[in-house]
Amino acid sequence: METIRDETAPRNTGWSAEMKSGQILRLSARTIIDFVCFDRADFGEAFDQAPTRAASGCLYLREGDAMLSRGGAPLMTMIEDGFAGLGTHDTQFGMCGRARHRRAAAEGRLGEYLNAAVQVPDHGCAENLTAACKPWGIAYEDIPSPVNLFQNMAIDQRTGRMARTQIRPARPVPVVFRAERDLLVAFSACPDLASATGGLEVRAEIVQP
Ligand SMILES: [Zn+2]
Repeated sequence: METIRDETAPRNTGWSAEMKSGQILRLSARTIIDFVCFDRADFGEAFDQAPTRAASGCLYLREGDAMLSRGGAPLMTMIEDGFAGLGTHDTQFGMCGRARHRRAAAEGRLGEYLNAAVQVPDHGCAENLTAACKPWGIAYEDIPSPVNLFQNMAIDQRTGRMARTQIRPARPVPVVFRAERDLLVAFSACPDLASATGGLEVRAEIVQP
């Protein structure tokens, strides 16, 4: 095992890296991480929530599930889930960000997901991922809806209603992915307005097996 990267992204910032096929990405946190990946040879082949759910037959991303591109190609596989048995990883929601915060405030709906202990930040995952992907010339419009690691949603099967929960890891736990091809990976350490922490740092390690 050779460590390629071992870095910590502070709360409400973005991070990105290139990975070679077969390398391992370990993300450790006790906060929400909005995570995306792209085929390094074709950024149009980005992670896509819908084909991923269709292939796994599940609303959550679980250990053993592949993250698929829009064209259905496996980009990464989750090979270890430190959150298993504690909570689930969301594949329904997009990202938080300045526009969503402003819209929610204008509609009087901020209370649906704003913890009373948290101030609304002036930026969020949309801005963080945009900054993280900018060096590769990827615009905000070309960043897909992410998989939201550690975002545990309560989903009512009968009504379809989704509600944010306070369920997070009590201490940083890892979620580990294997790159199935050469990739660009990026994430935002979400400001996590639903939790009293208002977001926390995320450790990112890439290793060559
Ligand atoms: Zn966010």
